[in-house]
Amino acid sequence: MKTISIVVPCYNEEKVIDTFYAKCSEITSSINNYVFEYIFVNDGSSDATLNLLKHLSLMDKSVRYISFSRNFGKEAAMLAGLTSSKGDYVVVMDVDLQHPPKLLTTMIKHIEDGYDSVAAKRVKRNGESKFRGYFSKKFYRIINKISDVNIEVGATDYRMMTRQMVDSVLSLKEYHRFTKGIFEWVGYDTKWIEYESFDREVGDSKWSFWSLFKYAIEGVVSFSTTPLKVSSFIGIMFAVLSFIYFAFTFCKTLITGIDMPGYASTICIVTFLGGVQLIALGIIGEYLSRVYMESKKRPLYFIKESNLESEKEE
Ligand code: UDP
Ligand code: MG
Repeated sequence: MKTISIVVPCYNEEKVIDTFYAKCSEITSSINNYVFEYIFVNDGSSDATLNLLKHLSLMDKSVRYISFSRNFGKEAAMLAGLTSSKGDYVVVMDVDLQHPPKLLTTMIKHIEDGYDSVAAKRVKRNGESKFRGYFSKKFYRIINKISDVNIEVGATDYRMMTRQMVDSVLSLKEYHRFTKGIFEWVGYDTKWIEYESFDREVGDSKWSFWSLFKYAIEGVVSFSTTPLKVSSFIGIMFAVLSFIYFAFTFCKTLITGIDMPGYASTICIVTFLGGVQLIALGIIGEYLSRVYMESKKRPLYFIKESNLESEKEE
């Protein structure tokens, strides 16, 4: 019998864990021919999340938990879950029930049909602010244009993968992980299935506008060097323009002599170029900071406790 690992990152989710587990096991128990294991990753929660996970693991032998020493972010939590997963197939799922467990049956069907991965995408963002929806769409358009990966609009992290694909994903050791991009980058045949998303019923989304903005920058910088090229292009364009302007002024001075006016335009040009230079520096800085962080080779997370060990002893 094949095993399916369900990887679930949790950050301050005491309100939903039990419901998630109940709903999810209702589905898994209806699926025959497969054994399921849960890998809950407690991403440094400050509420009762860890206690609930421990409790679950005592009641259900197939529940593993990993608990981080602090909040390392969802990317790190997913990585830890994938790393300790043993299943022939692995599925990553949010605990807030925004990733409907009933899709598992469809996912398994497609994987059995020969796909390497089955990923869910949202078709309608029910209950989500128009503002966020708009920016999220724009973000995927931009990133797909300028980078070498193609991320579906509305793509989520809800995805089932074969062991082979999981191993490929894990072989990417980068510190700054943009998992949505990595899933695409490794290749393999992906089947996209659609579902209607709903607002989470309990608890709050952990994303602020600022953290989404940082996530977007991460996505672009991790998978594309186009911004660097754009800034060099703008630099060259301005150099050419200023050379033409210089030649023009030089000739004009030879013919009509020096005239004083021009203070305002000078200031305009100087400040404008100053701005362009700062933008270019900022872009270079984004890349340089990645190189800096990568060069430190810091671990992406620390596990403070887990029940993975006890499992090994058995
Ligand atoms: N999450 C996490 N670490 C974090 C933030 C979120 O493990 O630092 C988990 C969270 O518990 C949930 C999933 O990632 O299971 C998605 O989080 P959320 O619902 O806040 O994101 P959204 O659905 O709004 O994208
Ligand atoms: Mg959510």
